[in-house]
Amino acid sequence: MTEPVRILPATDAAIAEAAALLCAGQLVAFPTETVYGLGGDATDDRAVAAIFAAKGRPSFNPLISHLPDVEKARELAVFTPLAETLAAAFWPGPLTLVLSRRPDCPVSHLACAGLDTIALRVPAHPVARRLLEAVGRPVVAPSANPSGRVSPTSAQHVAEGLSGRLALVLDGGPCAIGLESTVVDATGDRPVLLRPGGVTLEALEQVAGPVITPERDPDAPSSPGQLASHYAPALPVRLNATDVKPDEALLGFGPTLPGAAVTLNLSDSGDLQEAAANLFAMLRRLDRPGLAGIAVMTLPETGLGHAINDRLRRASAPR
Ligand code: AMP
Ligand code: MG
Repeated sequence: MTEPVRILPATDAAIAEAAALLCAGQLVAFPTETVYGLGGDATDDRAVAAIFAAKGRPSFNPLISHLPDVEKARELAVFTPLAETLAAAFWPGPLTLVLSRRPDCPVSHLACAGLDTIALRVPAHPVARRLLEAVGRPVVAPSANPSGRVSPTSAQHVAEGLSGRLALVLDGGPCAIGLESTVVDATGDRPVLLRPGGVTLEALEQVAGPVITPERDPDAPSSPGQLASHYAPALPVRLNATDVKPDEALLGFGPTLPGAAVTLNLSDSGDLQEAAANLFAMLRRLDRPGLAGIAVMTLPETGLGHAINDRLRRASAPR
């Protein structure tokens, strides 16, 4: 058994300690409004390599650099007019922009998987913002879970997956959004959706006009890290269930089907925001030995449903 990792409530003292650990090249998990991130100094090749090792993440899957504000982000990448528009509308918040690296960008090339682009985000969570201010350097922070598994939306989830592989977890309670950020390539004059997430397609289009998506434009560039199987519990996942077997767990949405061994409802009232916030925690709770699988009811493809269905499709993909 590995020692359980130290979890500290995110007080001023704990945030200061976390910042000092990050500056010393250690890994610290912290809450954001999307999911808990496994943070490391983005300018330190060894810290970045330690993140890939701790998660078992393939090194072709680049990491997002987190900044406390847009001014700091502009120091790392070339901001197009489109990027300025999107940053003004959605930062701080669950939007990641992929932009061209500046020649003097100090972020580790390993963090960018050797690409000449970089993914940037200014998170909204107050603990994340205070931590980033205190560190004073960009912090890479992929979800704080073993690669391919269900993302963490609480400090406890982080400890379950990564104990022994990081120095500290800052506990800021459950994540309000519960889905990863939306990733948009903003190097051109039209946004290209690389990953659906906490900012909806509808909200993007309102601000920036038509978005290029892989569904509408089969030739759209795709993000290097969009693996088919991801976010996966140990049990097999079956989508669009219209019935359920007595040895299956049911993940419901709205009025649920009868007859499952155990049922959790993403949202009784069919609210997609509530469903997003519940998704990963409920997948974890249903992932119990002795069951045959997890049956999932259909969710609409609108608003946050787009990102929730993306995660569920990857959770159910052949492994
Ligand atoms: P995660 O850290 O797990 O939230 O995943 C980060 C996502 O951002 C992955 O889907 C990456 O492929 C994507 N990403 C990061 N950097 C880049 C980049 N330079 N170009 C395209 N996609 C990127
Ligand atoms: Mg992840």
